[in-house]
Amino acid sequence: MYKLILLLFLPLTLLAHLNIAVSYPYIGALTKSIGGEHIRTVVLAKGNWDPHFVVPRPSLISKVRNADALIMNGGQLEIGWLPPLINRAANPKTASDAKTFLNLSWHVELLDKPADVDRSGGDIHPDGNPHFHLDPNNILILADVIKKFLISIDGEHKEVYEKNYLEFEGMWKSKLGMWKAKMQDKKGLKVIQFHNNLSYFNQAYGLVNIGTIEPLPGIPPSSKHTFELIRLINDEKPCCILHDVYHSTKTAEYISDKTGIKIILMPHDIGALEDIEDLSSLFEYLTGAIR
Ligand SMILES: [Zn+2]
Repeated sequence: MYKLILLLFLPLTLLAHLNIAVSYPYIGALTKSIGGEHIRTVVLAKGNWDPHFVVPRPSLISKVRNADALIMNGGQLEIGWLPPLINRAANPKTASDAKTFLNLSWHVELLDKPADVDRSGGDIHPDGNPHFHLDPNNILILADVIKKFLISIDGEHKEVYEKNYLEFEGMWKSKLGMWKAKMQDKKGLKVIQFHNNLSYFNQAYGLVNIGTIEPLPGIPPSSKHTFELIRLINDEKPCCILHDVYHSTKTAEYISDKTGIKIILMPHDIGALEDIEDLSSLFEYLTGAIR
């Protein structure tokens, strides 16, 4: 009888997971690729939401409260919503000084750092542009950071995390080559965006962002700025407006009516559009969207 009870409980112990809360779906997918069966990810924000403005619902508080570790994007992308969740969850494991807390932005060089601190560059990204995961080359850096993090909090499964990382790295490197080839003839193309979500993507493939529909990061469109943008588009002939999925395309459509410029929706994360189910399909889509 004792043995039977032991047998019944054994699979439960073997299946014990680390519960890792992550802010965005791309972090969840990456963490799952490296963590495999030893971890469970709890993704806080949905991929079709504006990543800057997530509503800190009570259901999210309990997800943070029950987490064994937390991985965030950082670079102030979550500044409006994650710190309040962390405070209210009062979980020592997700405090920013815990060894079970990881801020990915600490491991990446941020672009678009404002030259001055008077906020004339906009209010929303004072530390620089936090949308670094949209350079697929950065995904490998982040995968390595996550591997080291998982090993540091769960050394027992070091070999598994290292093996999973190598598998991911091999797969990702072959895709990087394909995406680079696909984007080769787009080098030098001028683009407009709503918000500079694609700074890192553009840098990776040589696209040149010449203007944003937002007058400054986080500031809504104004008619003065929109008219200046229309003049710029007529002068510079950019190929297209690369638009996020969560802002209204109303201003973009107005600009398109006046100039004939194409609007292309660019998903920023897994789940941003229905077909974007994983990291590979996100970049497969992005590298095929500009035609
Ligand atoms: Zn942003």
